[in-house]
Amino acid sequence: MNLKKYIIDIPDFPQQGIIFKDITPLLNNAAAFKTVIDEMVTYAHEVGATVILAPEARGFLFGPAVSYAANLRFIPVRKPDKLPRATVKTEYALEYGTNTLEIHTGDLQPNDKVLIIDDVLATGGTAKAICELVTDQQAQVVGMMFLINLTFLKGSNQLKDYPHRAIIEY
Ligand code: AMP
Repeated sequence: MNLKKYIIDIPDFPQQGIIFKDITPLLNNAAAFKTVIDEMVTYAHEVGATVILAPEARGFLFGPAVSYAANLRFIPVRKPDKLPRATVKTEYALEYGTNTLEIHTGDLQPNDKVLIIDDVLATGGTAKAICELVTDQQAQVVGMMFLINLTFLKGSNQLKDYPHRAIIEY
């Protein structure tokens, strides 16, 4: 199935110079969405994941569907001050300034085998920060699965220590 047909390039969104990958047509096609989730589920089984972690917002479009189909737990990774209980945090550098992501304290068990899921691998900063959050909790990143890898941004270089895969490459 040619999944690229369901991804639209939006130039200069959300800011000048960025070519945003609009994945909503893929969500709006049942066969394309099922193909993606099935492939992610296969990978989850392949790496022996015990839990799925995905960051807001677009990781939430795929992570819970994979959790359901693979019969695995799901843990949301959220932006600051969204989770109501005590959290553990990771802070990482952006081009300008920093970003923080959080999970609820105690959601991850030591020895959990974690599969991280997100829509796009760009610079790899987000994924790497989540990996550090996982390893800080004595859990293990067994894989990362992206719908899209923007290979020209070389995000894979940041993730050398962790197995990762993408369904579509640009
Ligand atoms: P990064 O930390 O640079 O790998 O950025 C990854 C996050 O930014 C992902 O969660 C994506 O949702 C989002 N992102 C980055 N670049 C793009 C893009 N060109 N199109 C759509 N989403 C993007």
